[in-house]
Parts: sequence; C-alpha cells; structure tokens
Amino acid sequence: MSSNYLDKFKGSIFGVAIGDTLGKPFEGMLRDAIHSKFDNFEEFIRENRHIFKTYTDDTQLTLHTAEALIKGRGFDIDILINEYVKWLDDPPIGPGYGCLTSIKKLRYGFSWEDAASNSGGNGTAMRIAPIGLFFCKNIEKLIDTAKKSSQITHRHPAASAGAIVIARAIAYLTDKNPNTGFSTDNFFNSIISAISDSKNVLWNEFISILRKVKANINISLEAGLIKFSQIGVKSPYFIEHYLGKAFVHPYTLSTVACSIFVFLKRLKSFKSCIYELSTAGGDSDTIGAIGGSLAGAYYGFENIPKNLISLVKNHRRIIKTSENLYRVFSERNFSYFK
Ligand SMILES: [Mg+2]
Repeated sequence: MSSNYLDKFKGSIFGVAIGDTLGKPFEGMLRDAIHSKFDNFEEFIRENRHIFKTYTDDTQLTLHTAEALIKGRGFDIDILINEYVKWLDDPPIGPGYGCLTSIKKLRYGFSWEDAASNSGGNGTAMRIAPIGLFFCKNIEKLIDTAKKSSQITHRHPAASAGAIVIARAIAYLTDKNPNTGFSTDNFFNSIISAISDSKNVLWNEFISILRKVKANINISLEAGLIKFSQIGVKSPYFIEHYLGKAFVHPYTLSTVACSIFVFLKRLKSFKSCIYELSTAGGDSDTIGAIGGSLAGAYYGFENIPKNLISLVKNHRRIIKTSENLYRVFSERNFSYFK
C-alpha cells in the first residue's frame, strides 16, 4: 500500500520542531546530568512543561526551507537565499556561528560562493527535512538539491554530506510503515550510496562512520552515544572536557551519527525516539531536530502524541506550512496534467 505522504510530511517537520523544543533547555549539558532529573518520558514532559517555551534556529530554518520550496514550486537557489535572509528578521533563536555569519553576508549582497563559511557544523542537516520530503521520489535531484542548499552557508564537505545523508534517510522512511518495519541493511545501503559517488576524503570518512554505527547497533544506547558523540571531530574545541561522555558535539558527522544511532535504537514509538534524542546531551536541540525529522518521517503525524504537537510554539502555522509543501509536492508528482 502506498504511503500517506501528507502524514509523513507533517510528521517529519513536527519531528524537527518537537525535538528542537524539548532539547533546547538542555543544550550544553551531559546526558547523565539531564537524566538525573527525571526517570521517564512522562515525568520529563510533566516536570519541564514550563521550560518548553520555544524552538530554535533548527525549526526556524526548516520552515524557511519549506517556504522556499513552496514559493519556487521546487528548488530555486535565489528564493532559498531570500528565505534564509528573512530569517535574520525572525529574529534567529540560538543560531550557529557558521549560519549566522554567512547569511548576514548574503544579506549584504555577497554571492553565496563568497558568503559561505568553512563550517562543518550541523546547521545544514538540521534544516534539510523539507528537501528530503519534497524530493523523496527523485533521489538524484534530492542529492543535488541537498548539496546545493548546504553550500549556500557551509562550504565544508562534511556539512553537505550530512545534509544529503539525512535527506536520503527521510526519503527512505517516507515509504516505510511503522507497523511492518524496515530492513536496517537497506536503510544503511540507501544513505551510504547517496554519498558514495565522491573522491572526497571527508565523504569517505563519513561512510566509514556510518558503517561503524551499523556495526555497533547492538551496543547500549548510552555506550553508543559515548562512542559517537565526538566521532570525526578534529577540533580540540571543548573535547577534552567531555571526552568519554555522552555529549554530542555540534559537528555534522558526530550529530548525524548520533541522530541515526538513537533513532534506530528506539524503534518502538515516536515518543521513545524523541525522548532519547532530545536528552542525548551536548547539542541536544539539534540532535532532537535531526533525529526528530527521521522519527517523524517514519511514524507520521498521526502517531505523534497530541500533547507534543500542542507543546510546539506556532503549531498551527507549522501544520499549514507542512500542508502547503505537500500540496506542491503532490501537484508535481501525482498530477494527471503534468
Ligand atoms: Mg538550535
């Protein structure tokens, strides 16, 4: 049976917004310290309701990416740049340095080639969900668009590889039914093949990291987070202090590896995925957002508890944006008049 794509679109975009909202108050904390405050998901939501006030740049830029695809009726680099520049007036909530500096340069008229920072941060993968959804029926175009959408702000090859991997994973999951499951082997084959066509050393390093995640899928969630929290990180930036702890570094490779690992370790329900993602430690809003985009694409909007939907700021507007994105997608893919 064919998927309910509208449900998957809304699910994935809400996955970003919920993971981001739940993770934000715990950004910069160790997983142990977060988990010492409560015993389970219900308590986590009940005790912290008053601090889950807003999402951050992850959701803001995801919504701007969706708006650009809606306005352009597909991908148009100038429309995307325009949307990202508009984000400066939102104003940005908890932005990453790479995104902020490059988008400010775009506002001042720099070409994207000159504006892009050399950041390998997770700022491209966190905003990629609409591209993974919109191009789920055309993988070649998905890969090309995910790469171009990254390069506007992040020149670093890790950033484009992370965006492609997450977009491809989302596309894979839109066709899967949570009642019947999916093959982990096929999942890894799909995401790895999306970045296989490159001689780039970093892309190849990313492939070996993804293979390592697959090989370690049976270790405990905590052991995996400790193993992958700082994987691929070359910079000494706060590493020493958090070495050997579950504390996800905001580098693309580490955040994407941890998001995929946690998602696959908690394939029980959306709730169990999002709980572990947003309390993973370190860059918790972004691991919540990226992992949430996968969990939402898999489980769909109907399987997300209603109290989590209503927790999200501007949730009605997010439903509208998701529906509009789906409408343009369905006109392009399912119209008899194409
Ligand atoms: Mg953020």
